[in-house]
Amino acid sequence: MARKKIIAGNWKMNMTPSEAVELVNTLKPLVATEESDVVFCVPAIDLIPVLEACKGSNIQVGAENMYFEEKGAFTGEISPNMLTDIGVKYVIIGHSERREYFAETDETVNKKVLKAFEHGITPIICCGETLTQREQGVTMDFIRQQVKIAFLNVTADQAKTAVIAYEPIWAIGTGKTATTAQAQEVCAGIRQCIKEIYDEATADAIRIQYGGSVNAATAPELFAQPDIDGGLVGGAALKPDFGKIVNYK
Ligand code: PEP
Repeated sequence: MARKKIIAGNWKMNMTPSEAVELVNTLKPLVATEESDVVFCVPAIDLIPVLEACKGSNIQVGAENMYFEEKGAFTGEISPNMLTDIGVKYVIIGHSERREYFAETDETVNKKVLKAFEHGITPIICCGETLTQREQGVTMDFIRQQVKIAFLNVTADQAKTAVIAYEPIWAIGTGKTATTAQAQEVCAGIRQCIKEIYDEATADAIRIQYGGSVNAATAPELFAQPDIDGGLVGGAALKPDFGKIVNYK
């Protein structure tokens, strides 16, 4: 089955609302394609102006995080129904920066994934190993654990629509990209893990991105791999280069 590529930008904590609108207006013509899904994941305060600026274009808008309750005494958090109310379609869950700086665990990732599905939001579920884990040869053991817990109680039909982002932590924001072979190997391993949890049809349908210092030069070879269905892009998503990444062919 041919999976449609999905190329998402993770803006992280960059761009004020007015800068965000300017960036969307710069990128809009550069990322106009129907061949791949294009998603801009932006800071919470930018969501509404970015949604407005993306109207009528092919760009879909995602959040970078959300909480796993609908409402209540959770100061500073944003709920899934707040996101759907304004038209957000995607949410990044379990980015390594959130795991490292904001105490996200595999268990909270799982709660958020379940909640996102409940509200019809597509989760972009991040996983990835540290340099020590890679050097010790436990990359796949670690990622299998992250994936298995993230998908606890997720149905096969839901899993088919999910996006997994494989992001080796040592390659995020460092300029070090995993080699194409390393990225393909782990993405294939993740697909195998999904097959073990569910079945072949689910493994064939789920989209798996690579993320970690992707740029216009590395994207073509990475995205041509059989198990890499696009990318989650940080730094380069804030530049016109993102247009080249989206049109990587
Ligand atoms: C990311 O933040 O998900 C990421 C992959 O960042 P960068 O492309 O800057 O390494």
